[in-house]
Amino acid sequence: MSSLEPSRIYLDPAEMPTHWYNVAADLPTPPAPPLGPDGEVVKPEQMQAIFPDAIIEQEMSAQRWIEIPEEVRDIYRLWRPSPLVRAHRLEAALGTPAKIFYKYEGVSPAGSHKPNSAVPQAFYNKQAGIKRLTTETGAGQWGSSISFAGQMFGLDVRVYMVNVSYHQKPYRRLMMQTWGAEVFASPSELTQTGRDALAKDANNPGSLGLAISEAVEEAASRADTNYTLGSVLNHVLLHQSIIGLEAKTQFDKIGLYPDVIVGPCGGGSSFGGIAFPFLADKAAGEKRAERLRCVAVEPTSCPTLTQGAYAYDFGDASGFTPLMKMYTLGHDFMPPGIHAGGLRYHGASSLVSQLTHEGLVEPLAVPQLATFDAGVQFARSEGIIPAPESCHAIRAAIDEALAAKASGEPKVILFNLTGHGHFDMTSYDRYFSGQLEDFAYPADAIRASLEHLPKVG
Ligand SMILES: *Cc1c(COP(=O)(O)O)cnc(C)c1O
Repeated sequence: MSSLEPSRIYLDPAEMPTHWYNVAADLPTPPAPPLGPDGEVVKPEQMQAIFPDAIIEQEMSAQRWIEIPEEVRDIYRLWRPSPLVRAHRLEAALGTPAKIFYKYEGVSPAGSHKPNSAVPQAFYNKQAGIKRLTTETGAGQWGSSISFAGQMFGLDVRVYMVNVSYHQKPYRRLMMQTWGAEVFASPSELTQTGRDALAKDANNPGSLGLAISEAVEEAASRADTNYTLGSVLNHVLLHQSIIGLEAKTQFDKIGLYPDVIVGPCGGGSSFGGIAFPFLADKAAGEKRAERLRCVAVEPTSCPTLTQGAYAYDFGDASGFTPLMKMYTLGHDFMPPGIHAGGLRYHGASSLVSQLTHEGLVEPLAVPQLATFDAGVQFARSEGIIPAPESCHAIRAAIDEALAAKASGEPKVILFNLTGHGHFDMTSYDRYFSGQLEDFAYPADAIRASLEHLPKVG
């Protein structure tokens, strides 16, 4: 292995981007705006009960570049710029002529890309005089990220954690508590939504949609409290663009450009974060981006982009949020308790959905077992133990590399290693002991859930 070119492409802290990239400036067609319960376009004032003005402005902005506040960059520098790594050993194990790179976001304090948005969200809320933040968390990644970010700016944080994850992931809960947050299993007795759900089913496993309803309900009812969301919304994708912007600078340093970008897709924030800055080159008509493909990978058990409808739907289970135009499985879709909690969401970002609909993003669904096969192969060649969500991207990246081997093409593959799996070893345990199953959501169950889509227009 000594003859290999260097594996890690470093950036100096001074080379960290100073501005986020907003893909809304470069969409082929204007985005469909969020709608209120009356079917009217949501006005900024209607969001003020739960978000600070700076976030609302970013949510609606079509400005291409938005400056990253110095206070946010100071905290980013605790772990950013994140490394771009060439997976030489994985390439050798696969015998592929492809060059495989991964952008490693697991170096953040919380172990994933999510602090990239948690930090600015906490900052803008602090600046607006807010004292408390509420949020939901699935696998615990977002909850731990906002707990960390809240602590950095002296804000109290209350987290509604999806019931199954709360019990599967005690260490994520303890991380949040270490950073000073309060954590409750959702559905909880603390909100009307939670009490209603528990009355129907005392053993409700919970879902991200339900936990969002609880966190929004609480934030809307208190003036000193705002809500934070870890994915889906435009401002979250904006913040995550730092991933792709850094990766572009890193590729420039070695004179390469990706042919294919692969990322896991739950709500779509890390996918948009890594892919959109490259799609900007395509929008600008740059030759090097002509062949670029962007592949968003989801589980077959929650196949939003591949099997969902492109329609207006609520972001949460009980219809508190505005209606968003997106790929959706129906807001009351209850995904099975798979081991990639961050990918168990019924919808997807409007921006990722629109670009998928317009053919600029390719969706791909992969079954659970094959993702763990890929994650273990990656750990055994590259060392890092990936988060189960990230394993979805690794599966697709390995399959791209094997296709390149079959066709003899020396493709450049970039995938988003969105987090490490150190708190997901129970899932690996299930995999090794043969207890994990593949689950493809039955088409008629999806059809039934889509019948509950809200009627618009
Ligand atoms: C949350 C999470 C995801 C999925 O969320 P997106 O908003 O789609 O990025 C992927 N990977 C990891 C490690 C996560 O924590």
